[in-house]
Amino acid sequence: MANTPYPESYYAASANAVPPRPVLQDDVETDVCVIGAGYTGLSSALFLLENGFKVTVLEAAKVGFGASGRNGGQIVNSYSRDIDVIERSVGPKQAQLLGQMAFEGGRIIRERVAKYNIQCDLKDGGVFAAITAKQMGHLESQKRLWERFGHTQLELLDQKRIREVVACDQYIGGMLDMSGGHIHPLNLALGEAAAVESLGGTIYEQSPAVRIERGANPVVHTPQGKVRAKFIIVAGNAYLGNLVPELAAKSMPCGTQVITTEPLRDALAKALLPQDYCVEDCNYLLDYYRLTGDKRLVFGGGVVYGARDPANIEAIIRPKMLKAFPQLKDVKIDYAWTGNFLLTLSRLPQVGRLGDNIYYSQGCSGHGVTYTHLAGKVLAEALRGQAERFDAFADLPHYPFPGGQLLRTPFAALGAWYYGLRDKFGY
Ligand SMILES: Cc1cc2nc3c(=O)[nH]c(=O)nc-3n(C[C@H](O)[C@H](O)[C@H](O)COP(=O)(O)OP(=O)(O)OC[C@H]3O[C@@H](n4cnc5c(N)ncnc54)[C@H](O)[C@@H]3O)c2cc1C
Repeated sequence: MANTPYPESYYAASANAVPPRPVLQDDVETDVCVIGAGYTGLSSALFLLENGFKVTVLEAAKVGFGASGRNGGQIVNSYSRDIDVIERSVGPKQAQLLGQMAFEGGRIIRERVAKYNIQCDLKDGGVFAAITAKQMGHLESQKRLWERFGHTQLELLDQKRIREVVACDQYIGGMLDMSGGHIHPLNLALGEAAAVESLGGTIYEQSPAVRIERGANPVVHTPQGKVRAKFIIVAGNAYLGNLVPELAAKSMPCGTQVITTEPLRDALAKALLPQDYCVEDCNYLLDYYRLTGDKRLVFGGGVVYGARDPANIEAIIRPKMLKAFPQLKDVKIDYAWTGNFLLTLSRLPQVGRLGDNIYYSQGCSGHGVTYTHLAGKVLAEALRGQAERFDAFADLPHYPFPGGQLLRTPFAALGAWYYGLRDKFGY
């Protein structure tokens, strides 16, 4: 029986202690079988348990093994494509609903952390940093757009002001979002898993769903057991493989890499990010970074289309870090890892239902920490018969990647190369 550990990362090394979880070796019955214990699965499980459902979660490896336990830890509002793009591609009613939900995920995280006393180094404040005048113009219209949907904790930063919150000379300005922020992502997932169990939910680890028997009474099979359920929620995202073939064609796993420095001297940490905000730049292939609770710099960037693991992550990411912060040239990198997120062509989440009882949400294409928490709530609402908000996502159009399974990776890489060039030359 395979026993898949966490990949080596700063998060795994600093994870809060958790009890061992069982492998499914039985035939069990439940109301909802959730496949995948990342934020989507755990958030769904929590909302369902809070509403009286019996829930069983199957996790192929360990809680937070996927992107939820490896990400940059940035709480970023809205979706990977903003509401104005959504407004142009769907009707006003659907766009209005999606716009109203765009800031809910961050609130859900904060409520969860407070309600279940989750120790995950939550800090408020996220900065979008503009490198070009065009990006600054985009942030100005983004602020107006977000304010139109009731989000008011935003401040535009000019060149002098951004220099007060981040010691990087590349930026000409930015936008501070005080309802953004950052967390230790794996500890958030572990805390949510403990909350699931405190409400009577069961989580099986090292228990991959290997087959779904569809029908009026669906059954999820694992190598040593099965779960009979009224409903199934598929939340395996970029790690799902081909379990549900319908979902694979319209999404593509992509790798992105993160490094973590040794703990920085207090004075150096304070000089880099005096208010301890997290930062992401506005490039298409963006860099993002923040300080950890013990004052390391977590720095991420770059995308590997098709999710091949690069041989030397430090060699790819460290130069980006030094470009932003040459003052870190003598600082040692303690950890480097890779993780997969799921890209869709529209960069909007892929949400829906197969038959009457199999629900899914995946493919938030990069900015998923907040959306996945919202997704759990929206999926739980749909299972309770209130599907208006679920339908707003499910009705978003999705298309297969050009080139099919064989050529989608080079095609997407070519597209990203083009946008990378535009970033480079300031278009
Ligand atoms: C390196 C990296 C950095 C990122 N940084 C940020 C960031 O700073 N901010 C942000 O907003 N977003 C970020 N993201 C994206 C964000 O982390 C994801 O969008 C989000 O965590 C996805 O959550 P999820 O639950 O849908 O999927 P995952 O967290 O990937 O969870 C899926 C789970 O399902 C399990 N699974 C898969 N198949 C099966 C099966 N057959 N049976 C049982 N279990 C199964 C997997 O083992 C996994 O644990 C980043 C992603 C990566 C990879």
